[in-house]
Amino acid sequence: MRIMVLGGDGYLGWPTAMYLSAQGHDVAVLDNAVRRQYDEELGSGSLVPIVSLHERVRAWREVSGREIELWFGDLCDADFCYAAVSGFRPDAVVHFAEQRAAPYSMIDRKHAVYTQTNNVVGTLNLMYAVGEVDRDIHIVKLGTMGEYGQPNIDIEEGWLEVEHKGRKDRVLFPKKPGSFYHLSKVHDSHNLEFGCRIWGLRVTDLNQGVVYGQETEQTVLDPRLATRLDYDAVFGTVLNRFAIQAVLGLPLSVYGNGTQTRAYLDIRDTVRCIEIACENPADAGEFRVFNQATEQFSLDELAKLVANSFPGGAEIEHVDNPRVEIEDHYYKFVHTALESLGLQPHYLGDTLLEQMYGVIEQHRGRVNTDLLAASGINWRTSANAAPR
Ligand code: NAD
Repeated sequence: MRIMVLGGDGYLGWPTAMYLSAQGHDVAVLDNAVRRQYDEELGSGSLVPIVSLHERVRAWREVSGREIELWFGDLCDADFCYAAVSGFRPDAVVHFAEQRAAPYSMIDRKHAVYTQTNNVVGTLNLMYAVGEVDRDIHIVKLGTMGEYGQPNIDIEEGWLEVEHKGRKDRVLFPKKPGSFYHLSKVHDSHNLEFGCRIWGLRVTDLNQGVVYGQETEQTVLDPRLATRLDYDAVFGTVLNRFAIQAVLGLPLSVYGNGTQTRAYLDIRDTVRCIEIACENPADAGEFRVFNQATEQFSLDELAKLVANSFPGGAEIEHVDNPRVEIEDHYYKFVHTALESLGLQPHYLGDTLLEQMYGVIEQHRGRVNTDLLAASGINWRTSANAAPR
């Protein structure tokens, strides 16, 4: 297949592009490198060194003998987006290209507006490009499990059968997300579902859990093929951060009472799920939703897993929660669609954690411990935060 990976310079986009290329697909990546600019803005950076996207593509050619086509530009530029879709003519577009950190979207008004504009406009431009170029192009869109929030009922895969006053309907599962970033994903989902109804688009919305891990079969082939590993309080995802704190001998910082439960998956499952979604396209006019996560953990459970698996152990510290989140809540989600299409999950265990400790140990000299500390971004005071 011809597959275009939007956001192909990111934590997940780059390993996905290489994985798909390694499976024999013709792959293009599109990115505007804005993720690298957030690092400049925040004074942060990947723990594992990463080379430029141009160099990555060159290194992949050298190592694999395969070509990945590069489109450098902004998805919010409608002409560029159209040129990329019509120029590469993909069978599927995998859309990772969004601002994806909840804390970043909660810094202040400017960052909330940027996040929603970048994410919603980019997705709309993609929908229009596909609508005009060829409606059979399958859009595989990265959503998040965070769109659902923590409802007191089981989370279904995107849709809910409802009986109300004696009548029945199938409605989009109600969403109650916890940040302006997560809300941007909800807005995208609604726009995409509408596109399926009016233009007959084929869309798979992958509501992905929090991803952990840094290595895939392809990233380990050459240091230039490595993907980023974020550990700062804004972009670092929780398990990656706990593992780094353990290696550095720092307490694992758990927000609030630690009962907040979320859905998770291994980066090696992310790349496989994308392949499964591309190879089994949604029908024309179908807005299909998969919950792309394999396990659930509370923050406390995760911290204990890390503390127990790290040689010498680690201390766990509970800190004030800068976010507005519910604690001690019900959490159960359905995740059968991807498994039924062939996903064989990697479950979180000691081997993965030991592998991560090794990667972190190798680069520990690059850690800036200030970045691990609370970012000062507070959901409650964000309405009157001084502009940054
Ligand atoms: P990332 O920030 O590392 O990668 C996103 C990439 O998109 C970056 O390279 C960035 O430069 C690019 N991008 C952003 N806006 C763009 C634009 N307007 N035009 C062109 N390129 C643009 O993020 P990631 O962790 O790889 O996540 C990828 C996707 O998966 C995101 O949509 C995110 O919401 C979703 N997701 C990630 C996780 C996770 O744990 N990392 C969990 C659930 C969902």
